Amino acid sequence: MYHRISEPDLDPWGLSVSPDHFAEQLEVINKYFHPLSMQEFLVHVQRGSVPNRSIVVTFDDGYVDNLQHARPLLTRFDVPATIFLVTEAIVEGQNFWWDELEWALLQPGTLPDWLELRVSGSRYEWQLGDAQQYSLQERQADRQRRPWNSIPGTRLAFFYLVWQCLLELSNPKRLEAVDAIRTWAGVSNNSRPGDRALSKNEVNVLGEGGLIELGAHTMTHPSLKGLSASQQMKEISGSKAQLENIIGHPVTSFSYPHGEYSVETMEFVQRTGFQGACTTAFKCVMPGADPFQLPRFQIDDWSGEEFLRHLARWYALS
Ligand SMILES: [Zn+2]
Repeated sequence: MYHRISEPDLDPWGLSVSPDHFAEQLEVINKYFHPLSMQEFLVHVQRGSVPNRSIVVTFDDGYVDNLQHARPLLTRFDVPATIFLVTEAIVEGQNFWWDELEWALLQPGTLPDWLELRVSGSRYEWQLGDAQQYSLQERQADRQRRPWNSIPGTRLAFFYLVWQCLLELSNPKRLEAVDAIRTWAGVSNNSRPGDRALSKNEVNVLGEGGLIELGAHTMTHPSLKGLSASQQMKEISGSKAQLENIIGHPVTSFSYPHGEYSVETMEFVQRTGFQGACTTAFKCVMPGADPFQLPRFQIDDWSGEEFLRHLARWYALS
């Protein structure tokens, strides 16, 4: 499971692999493994005969660097991939909300001492204390730290608290909140252009030649298991319809945002006409696996050598 092929100066969620490391990783896949698209893989799973050392490369979300950096390298090493797209971000040409939030809250400098959010009748409040200040050195140090491991009272910890709060909101309320936070922080709304989602046109270019399969990842990237049945259905079938409308052919692969789903979610995904869905459970797909619960390993910014070491362990190769 990949997200981005890029080198941002800060990457709190660890979503990026550099183009150089991605090239090294693809070389390893090409040399020692049997790369398949998700569709090919599912056919093998159904037959109960998956080729030895099969590997499926997937990307979640649909960042523009998937076209700029990933596609040329996938083509060079002849490795197929399946890219799961957040369709509303593509239709609307939006940046993802978590990047907007990072842009507003994780810039070096001083923020006001407290943040109050009023979102459609609810009120949230944070006192920043020491988190008001954020030096360049702290930001540098945070390159090695994940938000869930942040030190309480720091800017990164504050960012994580706000992120957790926004995650619980509905998409319109979340966007309203991000807007209010941007104004509060005094930042403009044109964040790093490299952070944006693919456009409709770019999605079609990405799919040209058939090496890359396009899959759906909901319309707005909610945690599905927390939604009502009708909201889940809307997110799942809506993303399929939007993507099919953009690319003009059936979309049959899905991945659950945040890796979160319930039994009901799986039923909806199956009923909508998808043939398989990926989770974020950290393990290999074993014989007899449920095609609607395919686990994946997140790949970090590893060199080819480190990547091979991890794969060898996961595949129990000697
Ligand atoms: Zn995602």
